[in-house]
Amino acid sequence: MTDYLPSASSRQRVTFAESQKFSFCTTWFDKVADQDRKYIVNIFVDTKEIEIMDVGRKQAFLKRCPYPELDMTKFYLGNSVVIHGRQHNIVEFANEYTKKALSSAQERTCAIVKPHAYGANPNIFKDLLRELHKNQLAVSRLQLSQLTPQDAAQFYAEHVSKPFYPSLQQMITSGPALIIELVGDQAVQKWRNIIGPTDPRQALPQHLRSKYGISVTENAFHGSATPQEAEREIQIAFQLRPLCAPEHSRTAVIVIEPTFKAQYGDILSHLFTQINQVSGLVVSGIHSADPVAADIDELFKAYQGVIPNWRSYCDAFDDGVCIAIELTGSNDVIQNARNIVGPFDPEIAKLLKPQSVRAVFGKDCVQNAVFVTDIAEEAEIHSDFWFRCAE
Ligand code: ATP
Ligand code: MG
Repeated sequence: MTDYLPSASSRQRVTFAESQKFSFCTTWFDKVADQDRKYIVNIFVDTKEIEIMDVGRKQAFLKRCPYPELDMTKFYLGNSVVIHGRQHNIVEFANEYTKKALSSAQERTCAIVKPHAYGANPNIFKDLLRELHKNQLAVSRLQLSQLTPQDAAQFYAEHVSKPFYPSLQQMITSGPALIIELVGDQAVQKWRNIIGPTDPRQALPQHLRSKYGISVTENAFHGSATPQEAEREIQIAFQLRPLCAPEHSRTAVIVIEPTFKAQYGDILSHLFTQINQVSGLVVSGIHSADPVAADIDELFKAYQGVIPNWRSYCDAFDDGVCIAIELTGSNDVIQNARNIVGPFDPEIAKLLKPQSVRAVFGKDCVQNAVFVTDIAEEAEIHSDFWFRCAE
């Protein structure tokens, strides 16, 4: 925080109970004014309260008030949080206290499943997710992309002039790479401990590189070296174009609700197990996106009057980062996707399809864990929205 200082009088007025306070610099895009507005969001953890300061106007925007839905796991740099219907992007810690307290607990790292490994091992993602779960690292974003030689040179800038760079570039650009943002205490070091040393021959049996690595170049995984490097790499990797099926292919899109963020790993693992069991069914795209409310309403327009509690259902998808998975490869791709996801109501899903995603993870008809394309005419719109129009 640099340019906002509360006045002495406002400080004197504070008579609330003592509570641990974390402060974040946020931006909210004001569509009417067509500009980002800056705020300081103060979170009072013990009393579950919130207060928002308008930096530009140097005044309170929202006086300190109860915030029962507080979920501190959502407050990390780069994430966005919907507060009173407005999507705040968290851009910085607003003071040293917050930074010290939270930056290690919410450290991010950039993990990549390299192309040779992603393509060859259908179970690699499951193994990886199991390790993340054991080490209490959360998946916050993920994306399937193919790097160009230019992308590779930018990402591996420190290695471009080294003798092994041509083979490194050839390998990393050779096919789809699965890029994963991980969040958690000591995420950078923990992920490196999970994958093991650069040379898979020196890795111990518990290291993922010993299982999936083939050589020093084809060592199956990437992990950021430091938190600073992680920030740089995340910036580059999540700006790449997400892969998806060619236009006019038969597709279905499954989208995980952002409120299930803490279970992203478990839901993805479950989904991938089920997808692997259907012959011909292929994951053609994986992409995280944080759409705005108006776009979600437009996207789900065809389901108004069909989905119970349509308004609340749309709102549930406007509450942070969604993970979208595009499926293709079989003629009855929509039916296959629907079978995997299960009936809309988790209670009915538990009776009819107990192994389906909604039966296992869904809570009710609003928080039913995942959306799935179930009308053929909508499939192209969904693929366009989650993958082709993505920035
Ligand atoms: P990564 O950055 O991919 O997580 P790392 O940090 O363990 O791996 P770096 O020294 O950063 O290793 O090298 C980046 C990548 O370049 C390695 O993962 C490997 O694919 C490749 N590489 C590194 N050293 C060599 C080498 N001597 N010969 C061939 N390839 C190498
Ligand atoms: Mg490295």
